[in-house]
Amino acid sequence: MTDPTQRPAPRGDGARRTGATPARRPAGGGEVARPAEGDGYRSAIPPRGPLARALAPVGGFGVTLANMVKPTVTEQYPSEKVPTKPRYHGRHQLNRYPDGLEKCIGCELCAWACPADAIYVEAGENTPDAQYSPGERYGRVYQINYLRCIFCGLCVEACPTRALTMTNEYELTGPTRAGLIFEKEDLLAPLRDGMLRAPHPMVDGTTDTEYYRGEVTGTTPEQVAWVAEHRPDDPTLPGYTGDEPRWTPGPAAAAVQATAAAATKQGSR
Ligand code: SF4
Repeated sequence: MTDPTQRPAPRGDGARRTGATPARRPAGGGEVARPAEGDGYRSAIPPRGPLARALAPVGGFGVTLANMVKPTVTEQYPSEKVPTKPRYHGRHQLNRYPDGLEKCIGCELCAWACPADAIYVEAGENTPDAQYSPGERYGRVYQINYLRCIFCGLCVEACPTRALTMTNEYELTGPTRAGLIFEKEDLLAPLRDGMLRAPHPMVDGTTDTEYYRGEVTGTTPEQVAWVAEHRPDDPTLPGYTGDEPRWTPGPAAAAVQATAAAATKQGSR
């Protein structure tokens, strides 16, 4: 009768080549006994010479000694800020087209893709008097909860219009939990020179397709005229001479920036 505790012997060439005695599993489980060297077993680790064996107990100090003469790599954050890698996943940004219209169409795909349920979107209807993005809809409410976000970037992958991207900004801290829920105004990209603040009409004769294809490269005189008629004091109008800045960060983004600046100041003392 076969002993159920015995491992089957190697078959064919394997058994003949090694000449190994099949290992026996001890009754009741536990470690399998290794065959002795004389039994045809050969270790894959080369044997150490007498000098290596004598120095082995102090060998670990080699790592310590080598690191004592290497340059220090500790970053002195926050007094010294080292630039991140170009593709670092930092704070999100809602981008705009070159004429200032928003790229977000409120489709909610980013919210559905988010594994941490950190994004909340509500869409609104564009109208001739209030056109915020090309096409029918825009992101009326857009929130990212940075207490939940794990910066995985799946939202960016899901976005069909490249409205959502991630910046290299990593200083996201603040005195309150509510302050780390960023609203749309905190996330919208700055209005660069030549952009008009939304809402305003799309470029005449275009559809959302021309916008997606990058065929709209800036504002047109008709758009400027429309904004001048509906918002004569808009600071993004060409030739504006008032005091209001073209763009300021939203309250949550501003508070986070202030906290980071204070930490930097304290760290450099
Ligand atoms: S950011 Fe992109 S994915 Fe999210 S709602 Fe806007 S268009 Fe859709």
